[in-house]
Amino acid sequence: MKRINDPSDLAINGAPPAFSERLHVGRPNIGNHEAFLQRIAQVLDNQWLTNNGPMVQEFERRIAAHLGVKHCIAMCNGTIALEIAIRALGLTGEVIVPSWTFIATAHALYWQGITPVFADIDPATHNLDPEAVRRMITPRTTGIIGVHLWGRAAPIDELQSIAHEHGLKLMFDAAHAFGSTYHGQNIGRFGECEVFSFHATKAFNTMEGGAVTTNNDELADAMRLMRNFGFKGYDNVIHPGTNGKMIEACAAMGLTNLDALEEMFTATRLNYGIYREALMAIPGISVLDYAPKEQNSHHYVVIEIDEHFGPTRDEVIAALHAENILARKYFWPGCHKMKPYRDLFPHAGLMLQNSHKVSERVVVLPAGSSLHPDSIKQICRVIEMLYHGNRNHQ
Ligand SMILES: *Cc1c(COP(=O)(O)O)cnc(C)c1O
Repeated sequence: MKRINDPSDLAINGAPPAFSERLHVGRPNIGNHEAFLQRIAQVLDNQWLTNNGPMVQEFERRIAAHLGVKHCIAMCNGTIALEIAIRALGLTGEVIVPSWTFIATAHALYWQGITPVFADIDPATHNLDPEAVRRMITPRTTGIIGVHLWGRAAPIDELQSIAHEHGLKLMFDAAHAFGSTYHGQNIGRFGECEVFSFHATKAFNTMEGGAVTTNNDELADAMRLMRNFGFKGYDNVIHPGTNGKMIEACAAMGLTNLDALEEMFTATRLNYGIYREALMAIPGISVLDYAPKEQNSHHYVVIEIDEHFGPTRDEVIAALHAENILARKYFWPGCHKMKPYRDLFPHAGLMLQNSHKVSERVVVLPAGSSLHPDSIKQICRVIEMLYHGNRNHQ
């Protein structure tokens, strides 16, 4: 019996898929295994597994120094870090966000009783369009969350002036942007605060994890309290709080990966270059650029497929899956079309034409430091054959 839920059964002409194992998007970048295991042994010897242990303290110091920011508050994941930052900033009412982002950006607000209001993007960068943000401001707006999508910095200066003009708080979802710069300065020090995710799929990971970085002492203190149930000392709770703590094992992973960051990002940059050169030559495909003068992890390879390609975006995704290349259409269909927000704003799409256009075209390809250049060349060959209408890759 054929397993009809196995995408490789879609393979054309009965040919075996291009890859015998599935190549996923979001392959983890992992540093030295021995060094990680030594740190884990240290954690066990310390008998200090969580609650602001020595690994987390070292991790926070090193991240803050690496980014050149005063405070790093490590958290259990990026979503809780967003929620804590949103609360510590006192956001209420409505907050403007892009719809073209991972759903957690919107959820973190909604989970705090705040309405996420979706503004449109610039189709060239996939980041918020400042003019679209202006159009969404109402008397209930209290803040803006810019997202540095795919690690490319949001238009920070423009958003900062809008926030200033209207008395709004500006913070950033920097989940994709560890290792990115804006005007040559590290992401992590802009707005009131910036929120990182160190989830396994991100450029830099702690397995699960996140952090808020800020130069604001008061905000940092508030977030440290909220992260630990509002405890000040052993018996004294002075603030409502939650459990946002990073555990020692995650910090051990973070320290290990931080040591390997340069090698990892050298590999991802090379891989991006190989993809780019091969794919730019194919009509109907464009490869999303990184800002040429800025640094970036090059962790994401994002392409857009237009009508000149031949097969539609969805046909390309299906064909790639048949070859065990598990490309994704992130963040299709956009937050505003996911049930909770579709119910809230049935007409949001009218204001989100660019988000819609991009969502119909985008394909995110497998990438990461562990992907071999030969595999990338093979993936590109498959895509080229799809263009030529010949899916037989033999
Ligand atoms: C991954 C991600 C998050 C959530 O981070 P977690 O660590 O997975 O909770 C938030 N925003 C964006 C844009 C993300 O990509």
